[in-house]
Amino acid sequence: MLNNTCSLKVNGAKESTREGKSLPRTAHHRHPGGKKQPVLRLLFWETTTGCNLECAHCRRLDVSQRLAKSDLTTEEGLAFIDALTATQKPILVFSGGEPLMRPDIFELAAYAIGRGLIVALATNGTLVTDQIAAKIKSVGIDRVSISIDGENAETHDGFRRLPGSFDRALEGIAYLRAHDVPVQINSTVAKHNDDQLPGIYDLAIDVGAIALHLFMLVPVGCGVQIADSVMLSAERQEEVLHWFYDKSKEKALQMKATCAPHYYRIMRQRAQAEGTKIDRSTHGMAVLTKGCLAGTSVCFVSHKGQVFPCGYLPVEAGNVRHQPFGEIWENASLFETLRRPELLKGKCGVCEYIKVCGGCRARAYGEVGDLLEEEPYCIYQPPIQISKTLDN
Ligand code: SF4
Ligand code: SF4
Repeated sequence: MLNNTCSLKVNGAKESTREGKSLPRTAHHRHPGGKKQPVLRLLFWETTTGCNLECAHCRRLDVSQRLAKSDLTTEEGLAFIDALTATQKPILVFSGGEPLMRPDIFELAAYAIGRGLIVALATNGTLVTDQIAAKIKSVGIDRVSISIDGENAETHDGFRRLPGSFDRALEGIAYLRAHDVPVQINSTVAKHNDDQLPGIYDLAIDVGAIALHLFMLVPVGCGVQIADSVMLSAERQEEVLHWFYDKSKEKALQMKATCAPHYYRIMRQRAQAEGTKIDRSTHGMAVLTKGCLAGTSVCFVSHKGQVFPCGYLPVEAGNVRHQPFGEIWENASLFETLRRPELLKGKCGVCEYIKVCGGCRARAYGEVGDLLEEEPYCIYQPPIQISKTLDN
């Protein structure tokens, strides 16, 4: 399964240059032709659709217990890394499916690291043994994110549809910690576990994780089938994100609300109400990023080489099997559209938080088939919209 696609941060401060300078919120570099190009900060590569679990909320409907014949081959993967590093140096996250099912995963990771990339691994954790953890460490993978969707086995295993997967994930974490590999916990938040968030938070601290990323379910893939029964209402998401803001102030973990762009509005509203300024010293790395990064500083490459703005927005920008990655990133009209917030419609289009939030383009697309429409799970009414409504 792929999880938390829009913002796996690697060692927190690694959302910065290798010289340690912070990346500006909308970093660009200038192309030799003179055109400004956004800097790709994070690329998720779905290395395979093969997975040993069948999670209820997976973005894919077609996961299989085996590697897919259509997965990029080792040769194609190495060529993709060459093309990527020829133009961009993002943090590269190997995801899936379950990336540890690929026998060449460490060869690919070592190659990418050798080409100067920071590499992370997004896994369900159940295949991490002592040997695998040692290999992850020796290859130089920077961080491993493991999905935990409940405070206990009953909830997690129910959602992951495999008895024992909770215990095996915790074992995997223990092996990684024993080998001193930084671990991030990813949790998909929905009705099955929203009352367990305090327990998941405590669990993350207990197992020695350095980060907790909460992911608001996006109704795509399997998520569509379960959306009505498990999606949190916009009001409940608001409550969860306020809780998240309060917990982040404890600074016990690096906390990130992922694919919940409106968190960046809530963070500013809360800080303003508290009379707190927003900067690195008060709000950490959250001030350096923004809500939806799809197509602006994040993208997703599928197991077949298709390039998408993120793993939850099924609109294709190109395919690395047929075109160099840099050409797609720099020139795809889809990406050019996503880089123009002034095109957003509905209340997002008139919202004063447009530049720090922007709403989830995938949820808008899933709801009404238009990726520029307003985020359907935000309760905020921008003042301009309210005054327009009163005028009519
Ligand atoms: S479109 Fe939605 S799911 Fe995709 S990166 Fe943006 S917030 Fe996340
Ligand atoms: S209206 Fe749109 S841009 Fe404004 S806070 Fe809500 S989701 Fe974000």
